[in-house]
Amino acid sequence: MSVFNAHDFDEHEQVIFCNDAASGLKAIIAIHNTTRGPALGGCRFWPYVSEEEALKDVLRLSRGMTYKAALANLKLGGGKAVIIGDPEKEKTPEKLRAFGRFVERLGGLYITAEDVGTSPKDMSIIFEETNNVVGRDTKEGGSGDPSILTSYGVFTAIRACVFYKMGKKDLSGVRIAVEGLGHVGIDLAKRLKDAGATLVVTDINEEIIQKAVEQFAAVPMGPEEIFGADVDVFAPCALGGILNDRTIPQLKCQIVAGSANNQLAEPHHAKALETRGILYAPDYIINAGGLINVTYEGPDYNSQVVMNHVEGIYETLLEIFEMAKMLHITTSEASDRIALDKFKLDKFKKATA
Ligand code: NAD
Repeated sequence: MSVFNAHDFDEHEQVIFCNDAASGLKAIIAIHNTTRGPALGGCRFWPYVSEEEALKDVLRLSRGMTYKAALANLKLGGGKAVIIGDPEKEKTPEKLRAFGRFVERLGGLYITAEDVGTSPKDMSIIFEETNNVVGRDTKEGGSGDPSILTSYGVFTAIRACVFYKMGKKDLSGVRIAVEGLGHVGIDLAKRLKDAGATLVVTDINEEIIQKAVEQFAAVPMGPEEIFGADVDVFAPCALGGILNDRTIPQLKCQIVAGSANNQLAEPHHAKALETRGILYAPDYIINAGGLINVTYEGPDYNSQVVMNHVEGIYETLLEIFEMAKMLHITTSEASDRIALDKFKLDKFKKATA
């Protein structure tokens, strides 16, 4: 397995393979870029089928965090960690503590947080070994579950997209498909319903679909069917890689805006969406609410201040859409360019300070 020549290697500063024989921990921490500040990013606990798959995920996710932090105007770099294993069966306090010790060794260069397969409670266990962790339970002084702010950011982004593409200032009567009704998706569905949208929903969990049908008068669909739903907006809130050669031709929507990380299976899928006349809201911009939230963690935490910051996603998106139009590039390329300019500017400032 090669790291420097891996498909998703993108000049990452440091990639650390962590092995703790006593607890059985096998983890990878990837620090993508620390030009703007310490690398902050969640710790994913996932049953990867191979080390290659885990490496691919951590390289892609950590890069996304650098870009996400830059476009959310945070003085942070990008990093991420993955722990290999099934969180339901293999997550133990010993493994989390061992992971905390590896984070501690990095001396603050990497700050961890919750992600898929980890929770605020797990962050409290990691905190026993290092201060370089955010997102603990609110009772313990942390900022708790970040999904609510992530959902608020996606909701804000959908409003911006609907305004830009459909010329509507509100969501009344807008038809929206939500794919994945987990922490983010279910909260998003509620916000959208309250704002007057009509919903189509799917999940792989039948019970949760039923809940959305009852609570939000949503129309249920199968996980494969939903791509072809006759809607204005498709909001992917489940897995990455969901916008690909198979799914894009099925889409009937005008807008794609959801919380899932790495929605485009390959960069060229941004062009495939544009060619079909679909406005794509780059995932790392619109799912930054949770990241923004943890950066405010501390005794002075004020939810209104955090929400105001998250609402900045609206203007950021409109700027990106306009830039893409002016330069004849995809929205994804436009956001990457702005993020890269921010790193370059920071590098220059550091060099000339
Ligand atoms: P979650 O695990 O709580 O929910 C995911 C949901 O998707 C689950 O209900 C699951 O059953 C469903 N699902 C899985 N495979 C599916 C499929 N093929 N079709 C339909 N549904 C499927 O995760 P979450 O915290 O809600 O996050 C959702 C997405 O947003 C993830 O990609 C995550 O990386 C991303 N994200 C989350 C946050 C956050 O604050 N939670 C922040 C940034 C990005």
